[in-house]
Amino acid sequence: MAKLGSPGRAIYDLIKLAPRNDLCPLCGVRKVGTLDHYLPRASYSALSVTPLNLIPACSECNRFKHDKRPTREEDQTFNPYVDDVTKSRWLVAVTEEGAPATVRFSVGKPTGWPNSLVARARYHFEVYKLGELYSHHATSEMSGIRRLLRQMHSLQGKIGVQTHLKDCEDSAREHDVNSWKAAMFAALADNEWYCDGGFDVLAF
Ligand SMILES: [Zn+2]
Repeated sequence: MAKLGSPGRAIYDLIKLAPRNDLCPLCGVRKVGTLDHYLPRASYSALSVTPLNLIPACSECNRFKHDKRPTREEDQTFNPYVDDVTKSRWLVAVTEEGAPATVRFSVGKPTGWPNSLVARARYHFEVYKLGELYSHHATSEMSGIRRLLRQMHSLQGKIGVQTHLKDCEDSAREHDVNSWKAAMFAALADNEWYCDGGFDVLAF
């Protein structure tokens, strides 16, 4: 269907262009570059041209999922067309003290969510290797804000750093409740050691 010049190519290209911000809805980080068959073509060939089964995705997410086929309710990744999980905060993180500090991401349990939905969030998180991806981005972001935090700490101490990180969290959260940035800033603001100079501890 997706071959250049084939009859379905125009539909394929239209769906691929649909996301407003051009970011992959499965990881929220990388650029859309392909269409993922939510139910794999290998097992569900009749659905291979059904729009609800075609998810704009980055090529890495597409590759990670490959032809995984759900056999239980819990083994279903989120389908952004039908699963609205954008209102509840399911992505959480904790700061790990060290030289340098790092942030570890995981799946929390939003109030009111049934266990099956939490299990699906975990499955989504694992299939798309989001922990690894978000930690990688967080490490880079934390290096980038070190100088600013140092200045804030020298002027306003731990409370100044905490207030700034909370503001960053609120801003990221307004844009996307489950963005890795919102989870990261929340984790950093919650950690007293980090806010009181831990951000500047590096291995020599
Ligand atoms: Zn992706």
